[in-house]
Amino acid sequence: MSGQTETLWEKASQVSEQALADGSLMPIVTDAQVIEEQGIAFLGHVVTPNATKKFRATSTQGNPFLPYEESLYVADAGREHVCLLNKFPVLSPHLLICSKAFVPQQSCLSLCDFEGWLKGFDHPDVFGFYNNGPIAGASQIHRHMQLVRSPIPLEQVIASGQLPFEHRLLPLQALDAKELYANYLSMMASLALLPATEGENCSPYNLLLTQRWMLLFPRSANNIDGVYANGINYSGRFLVKHEEQLAWLKQYGVMKYLADCSRQA
Ligand code: AMP
Repeated sequence: MSGQTETLWEKASQVSEQALADGSLMPIVTDAQVIEEQGIAFLGHVVTPNATKKFRATSTQGNPFLPYEESLYVADAGREHVCLLNKFPVLSPHLLICSKAFVPQQSCLSLCDFEGWLKGFDHPDVFGFYNNGPIAGASQIHRHMQLVRSPIPLEQVIASGQLPFEHRLLPLQALDAKELYANYLSMMASLALLPATEGENCSPYNLLLTQRWMLLFPRSANNIDGVYANGINYSGRFLVKHEEQLAWLKQYGVMKYLADCSRQA
């Protein structure tokens, strides 16, 4: 493609192929099923047993983003971030926008974080999410924003402001880092999620971002009965360890589950 600039996603696909071939990328193999509830087709991914073992064994050791595995490096994302492949993707490519220097995941996002994150939003189906700490579903303590390309089963419910739990929604015409950052700070303040002292941890929350809206909501629990939720689950997509957990989720009620892991209005 001479004369054209390669996008982050094109580069990510190439790096994924290579990383898959050399064994550094370890996709989580799942069986995806539809969960119908209130006219919404939620998606439930059930992990195969071998994939679960790999995921658990490798993802909890040290800081995987400093240093990161060279074979998972996609590109720089602005001045202060690198774009890496998620080593254990369910959807592939799954991109991580990680700070080059250590920044605690639970501290407030910066303007530069938004600038780096926005590098990946060049298609309408890009879905970004941020898990600010363990209660919000984060497994890593180093600053990272995430990107996948995927349909969003909850798109209409989100965009129409009908989520049954406390949240702030910002409809968007265009993506501008300064505008997003200013709105992020005011949404955080209005939900009382900012730390009392600058530099301290924020209270638990998830931030979701598409070309059409930004959504912020507090979190109260990272799991119910061993079924874990992070930001991507609030798009309407779930990852569970086995069929019994999927059955449990259907029985409990998907929307009730999401509401119970967040904060009641
Ligand atoms: P979170 O769990 O939301 O904090 O996101 C961190 C992501 O990093 C998880 O989805 C892991 O799959 C992924 N991860 C774990 N270890 C590595 C690694 N060595 N390189 C790249 N990604 C990793």
